[in-house]
Amino acid sequence: MEDYRFKKIDCLAGVGEARAALFEKKGIRTIEDLLYFFPRTHEDRTEIKEIADCTAGETVCVSITVFSPVHEKRIRRNMTVYSMTACDDSGAMNIVWYNNRFVKGQFMTGDKYTLFGKVTANNRGKLEMINPIYEKLGKERFTGKIVPIYPLTGTLTQKVVQGTMELAIKEAGRLKEYIPDEIRKKYNLAELNYAMKNIHFPDDFKSYNIARQRFVFEELLVLQLALLGRKDSNSHTEGIVFEDTMCVREFAKTLPFPLTNAQKRTLNEIMRDCSHGLQMNRLVQGDVGSGKTAVAAAAIYAAVKNGHQAAMMAPTEILASQHYETLTEFFKDMNINVVLLTGSMKAKEKRLAYDMISTGAADVVVGTHAIIQKQVEFYDLAFVVADEQHRFGVEQRAKLAAKGHNPHMLIMSATPIPRTLALILYGDLDISIIDELPPGRKTVKTYAVGENMRKRIFAFIEKNINAGTQAYVVCPLIEETEKSDLQNAEDLAAKLQSIFPKFKVGLMHGKMKSKLKDEIMNEFAAGNIQILVSTTVIEVGVNVPNANLMIIENAERFGLSQLHQLRGRVGRGSEQAYCVLFAHGKNEVTKKRMETMCMSNDGFYISEQDLKLRGPGDFFGTRQHGLPEMKIANLFEDADILKQSQEAAQYIIADDRNLESEKYNGLKRRCQRIFDDEVIMN
Ligand code: ADP
Ligand code: MG
Repeated sequence: MEDYRFKKIDCLAGVGEARAALFEKKGIRTIEDLLYFFPRTHEDRTEIKEIADCTAGETVCVSITVFSPVHEKRIRRNMTVYSMTACDDSGAMNIVWYNNRFVKGQFMTGDKYTLFGKVTANNRGKLEMINPIYEKLGKERFTGKIVPIYPLTGTLTQKVVQGTMELAIKEAGRLKEYIPDEIRKKYNLAELNYAMKNIHFPDDFKSYNIARQRFVFEELLVLQLALLGRKDSNSHTEGIVFEDTMCVREFAKTLPFPLTNAQKRTLNEIMRDCSHGLQMNRLVQGDVGSGKTAVAAAAIYAAVKNGHQAAMMAPTEILASQHYETLTEFFKDMNINVVLLTGSMKAKEKRLAYDMISTGAADVVVGTHAIIQKQVEFYDLAFVVADEQHRFGVEQRAKLAAKGHNPHMLIMSATPIPRTLALILYGDLDISIIDELPPGRKTVKTYAVGENMRKRIFAFIEKNINAGTQAYVVCPLIEETEKSDLQNAEDLAAKLQSIFPKFKVGLMHGKMKSKLKDEIMNEFAAGNIQILVSTTVIEVGVNVPNANLMIIENAERFGLSQLHQLRGRVGRGSEQAYCVLFAHGKNEVTKKRMETMCMSNDGFYISEQDLKLRGPGDFFGTRQHGLPEMKIANLFEDADILKQSQEAAQYIIADDRNLESEKYNGLKRRCQRIFDDEVIMN
């Protein structure tokens, strides 16, 4: 028998080519896709009010009899008003539609209807209902009940989706349950058919919650099974064995500072992985400035001392050059040859680098994506570091790994996500967390201010720069048009230059050639530019200790983790550092978010607040965290279900690692699909 779930939705009545195309835009092709398109919210239309009890401002259902037929009145070009009088036992009300010629001829005097719409008072103080939904008495589908409201864009209307959904649920008949009975019993989960009906068309909110609970669990279970499945295939790949792990101690002795306990712990975890005969896949999460580079350098040192090559890949040329310099400095006098490879190098320089890499003359290669190009062949690559992980795709990671024979992979991320989430969600990687900053760090003093403070802030900038420091000014990317991005930063740079004629103002943005960006960054690092205006291109890793001011324009447009990351660019030198957030809008959430930035310097705490305040859609919407978008689960509020589903996923994997038995068929299929249409770690 053909499984109804996999049928295209155009088999449903009322779904033709045009509508199918609209649904497709929402990623909905099959009946199953449609069923898993969950409502954004529900509208409670259960209560039918008497007309006499209605008040202006409320949105209600009324059950009426048509008193007079629809009257048409054109009040200006493009605006026609249709109105009729309706009554119930308690009174009468004017019903109004704007530009809806379909209502004309729809209503006969004496007809009985249920209406749902917003009640307003007209300019004579009389109550009116505007643009209501109407359904014949006794034939109600979306009035007099709890009605789903879907997240829509474009020309797809609620009515179409509601109607199509109702049909799909009816036509789909009995769906086969995915979650094995024993698990459903253990976690008290609703059965699929009950849940499917009630997630869309609940009889009451209690039933809805029961249904939601089940789908949240299901979504998180599938995600974790998929991630655990990947981890499983990784953790059984053979790996190169580093015989000498103690050598990292020698390296640590050469550092100008003692490692923090968190750095030591992380390094121990890495070295243990590298000596056990399996390939390492480890994510290091550490706040900005927690010293991830030193940890990576120690591990790279060990790879070289064990007779192999190591590579470190960074997302931007600036960062690659900086790492190159840092490593060269760390490894000077150690007879370790570090080579830089970036896209903007001259062909001749590149060729030289290729030769050194393929003959083994280069012990360590630092670079950008240029490292994973076809031409690059390693002599013996055993250890790979990918810095600022969220910028790389899985595919790029795989390409990097393919440059050696299962080299150990160390992925470093400076975008902390709440601990519990990290442990659960990065199921395909082992995780180390550097949760300690080197001692003696001054916290960056942070202030959220409005436009009225601009003069004072400018005076403050002037005073600091006169005292010999430097400032960053960051503007957001404005998404609509690329041009306005440039305009934004360019305008601001010009304005600042005219305000501060004594200082040199530089400009840097993402659309510039990387060579030019490098030049500007170098000028800033050398102190020849005092104020650097830029978009978020400076976000990752750049180190200019003399800069002590970070001014962020339209701070309300950034994610908190991103603000924290930007703020991490200052406070690297001996001067007290300041971060000024120009925030607009009086919105409560914005206020709370800015407060969070002012009161905390802890990236993990901040990301937790960000998740709490913005909700998972926005949090993960930025794709910084490399996870598929959640359809229904709220990773903050559903933390308990997250834990339960993790437990269940582990139980299932222990029971049947590859989900081969019949009872896991459905789950297996959903796991395989989860990463299909998602870009992971973009
Ligand atoms: P991130 O984790 O953000 O990549 P970095 O590795 O760039 O941080 O380190 C930030 C700064 O802290 C660097 O100047 C580095 O030399 C310094 N640093 C790293 N570890 C320590 C430590 N244990 N004690 C003192 N300073 C340290
Ligand atoms: Mg770094």
